Amino acid sequence: MLMTPGPTFIHEDVRKAMAKEITNPDLDLNFFDYYQETCEEIKKIFHTKNDVFILNGEGILGLEAACCSLIEPGDRVLCIDNGLYGNGFANFARIYGAEVTYYKSDYRNPISAEGLEKFLQSEKDFKVATLVHCETPSGITNPIDTLCPLLKKYGILTIVDSASGVGGEEMQADKWKIDIVLSGSQKCLSAAPGLTIVSISEDAWSKIHNRSTPIQGFYCNLEIWENCYQNKSFPYTQPISDIFGLRKAVERDLSNPNILVQHKKIAKATRESLIQSGLQLYPLDGYSNTVTAICMPEGISYAELFENMLKDYNIMIGGGLEALEGKIFRIGHMGENCKEEKVYLTLKALNQVLRKYEVPLEKSIYKTFIKTSGYLLS
Ligand SMILES: *Cc1c(COP(=O)(O)O)cnc(C)c1O
Repeated sequence: MLMTPGPTFIHEDVRKAMAKEITNPDLDLNFFDYYQETCEEIKKIFHTKNDVFILNGEGILGLEAACCSLIEPGDRVLCIDNGLYGNGFANFARIYGAEVTYYKSDYRNPISAEGLEKFLQSEKDFKVATLVHCETPSGITNPIDTLCPLLKKYGILTIVDSASGVGGEEMQADKWKIDIVLSGSQKCLSAAPGLTIVSISEDAWSKIHNRSTPIQGFYCNLEIWENCYQNKSFPYTQPISDIFGLRKAVERDLSNPNILVQHKKIAKATRESLIQSGLQLYPLDGYSNTVTAICMPEGISYAELFENMLKDYNIMIGGGLEALEGKIFRIGHMGENCKEEKVYLTLKALNQVLRKYEVPLEKSIYKTFIKTSGYLLS
């Protein structure tokens, strides 16, 4: 059982869709309609009227493509950094000539809009800001619902990495005035890794169209996608089987009107069960509804925990990255993994492994989960 914070479990219907017979996506006019309809469905998840495209590369392609297309050499770019991905965004911005300024804040807390506003009153002339919706490596969701309108008020274009947000956390791209939303296929949407989904606002298009220097790249150039379905011409051959799978995954997401409530409920029940057992969460606030990061307790190493969970229970969990390596472990409860039964089994296995290593637990993690989630009780 794959309980990592992406890639996530892929439903059989999605796998079957990927196995369908293909057509020639450049010549079969029906495929242009199919691609466009799939983008229309994605707009419903993003809550946007902006253009949406499916790019042919894993989520990182989207991060780089947004920087490549929007940023010109010398542009002041604000990189909002309270985690690994927020920090790493600056590297993509610099490749395309950005003059990067960080707005850094505590890695165990979400970004505060008040703090950012104070900063924006003294630091001026940013063209673009990069920010991360859900910091997957630390399990923190940032309040982009207030951060993005604030940045817009200061005339700054926003690029939001919502790889592990979209599908599990609320996304209101238009209401929150987000210029570019990026997400991937393999997190909350539970399709195979390999695709980026992106929305592009009119302001973002306008920045792209009014550049004084050409976009330095082809694969990362968002302009090559503009009007592709209207003109019935893709920039290159589409990975049609991946798109068949994504379409089915998007349909599955949209068929559950309670999906966000379910993410909230399961995430909360997971956290309460862990806390009541005496374990410590890594975030101090801004807990993600898609991934929970837990501090490694004393008495067991991450390598031992990972190995025992996998060997004895056939469950794969995630660990800490970079500075957090060996210090935390992570349970993904997003997309198809946002199910009481799966989280219950994961917490039960976790409970048994921690007991085996004589880690003191004040309460049984999985028994508490039955109460906090209502699983098996209803
Ligand atoms: C998963 C993820 C991505 C995609 O990157 P990979 O490291 O290739 O998985 C980008 N941003 C965030 C926040 C993610 O969680």
